[in-house]
Amino acid sequence: MSIQIPRGTQDILPGTVEKWQLIEETAKEVCRKYLYEEIRTPIFEHTELFLRGVGDTTDIVQKEMYTFEDRGERSLTLRPEGTASVVRSFTENKMYGNANQPVKLYYIGPMFRYERPQKGRYRQFVQFGVEALGSMDPAIDAEVISLAMQIYKQLGLKKLKLVINSLGDNSSRAAHRTALINHFQPSIHEFCSDCQNRLEKNPLRILDCKKDRDHELMKTAPSILDYLNEESSLYFEKVKQYLSLMNIDFIVDPTLVRGLDYYNHTAFEIMSEAEGFGAITTLCGGGRYNGLVQEMGGPETPGIGFAFSVERLISALEAEGIEITQEQQIDCYVIALGEKAKDYSVTLLQSLRQAGFSAERDYLNRKMKAQFKAAERLNAKHVIILGEDELAAGKVAVKNLQSGDQVELPLENFINEYTTLSN
Ligand code: ATP
Ligand code: MG
Repeated sequence: MSIQIPRGTQDILPGTVEKWQLIEETAKEVCRKYLYEEIRTPIFEHTELFLRGVGDTTDIVQKEMYTFEDRGERSLTLRPEGTASVVRSFTENKMYGNANQPVKLYYIGPMFRYERPQKGRYRQFVQFGVEALGSMDPAIDAEVISLAMQIYKQLGLKKLKLVINSLGDNSSRAAHRTALINHFQPSIHEFCSDCQNRLEKNPLRILDCKKDRDHELMKTAPSILDYLNEESSLYFEKVKQYLSLMNIDFIVDPTLVRGLDYYNHTAFEIMSEAEGFGAITTLCGGGRYNGLVQEMGGPETPGIGFAFSVERLISALEAEGIEITQEQQIDCYVIALGEKAKDYSVTLLQSLRQAGFSAERDYLNRKMKAQFKAAERLNAKHVIILGEDELAAGKVAVKNLQSGDQVELPLENFINEYTTLSN
């Protein structure tokens, strides 16, 4: 039997990969404008990094990691997300000492989670994310959110919903935590075993449970917004004010909590409201994580970031009927008739490509008619025909495939002549 692709992974084939490239370019271009610089970290890390950085009560750590022992008996894990690695690198490379602060980084690359595969949920997927480390200014929260929105907007998405919430600082969270425990404890036996575990460890995550989302007590659960102390409230007010100043619409949802343990203050998600997008509507998730750098052994450093997957972004584009890639075109297709002309076409093709033209030729010894067909399939602007007689006379025929016009150009100084013709 032939070997097939592993479950939950995808091949991205020519014809589709152009979409990916355009999304990557758009994301990078927006990052350049916002002054976020790229960081590349390893695909695998010490398992310990994710236990600490992602948090051992999360689904990621409990159920989804690809963990293995290497030949040196180290426990390693394929990265399930990017923030832990970026924060590790930030700390290890002492970026908190960089002259430019805050440190603004972005990454793009594959992440791995052992999930139940379905539309929008893969075992290998590509996340783009940014992290801004070293600032506790609500304007940076708003900037990070606007950066994500800008990428989506630039790609043409319109049916987006930005949802924000505040989880407050440590003291606000502690007060809310007590209220949550008191709220859920009497009926916790009606909840799934995960939630029963969460009650003491991290009751906030009960609100994020996918199994128990319809339980009566979910609707009446104490709202974090009622437990924000003055400082946290003010911070949240500022973030909202800055979003409004940037004309970014949002709604506040006090039940929005992120799956990861280390978040505080601002939390946000961007959802697609396009019909037919499917059951999973979250495109992008992010928030503030002021305790994480310290947790990783660095100095106390505030941070905020987000991540989205390219897979879900592509689904959203499809759901909105947005075609982002254009029909491919090449400049010219070289048709050579006869042995001498074939030899010559090697040189000609090389000079065309070096002069910046996209150019192709036949490698299958096809007849002239089939070569013309090939040129049409590639959507060539011109066909350059090298015949024995023309070669001997020092010229070639150049045919414009759109207009059908054909001209003869001298071989001498051909690239210059062709450049003039094609402009
Ligand atoms: P979900 O609730 O959908 O499982 P999550 O809380 O696990 O999301 P995060 O860890 O916050 O998601 O990841 C941020 C973003 O990465 C998501 O909003 C989504 O766009 C994307 N993402 C997460 N898991 C997957 C996956 N298995 N396949 C494709 N994209 C994913
Ligand atoms: Mg998940």
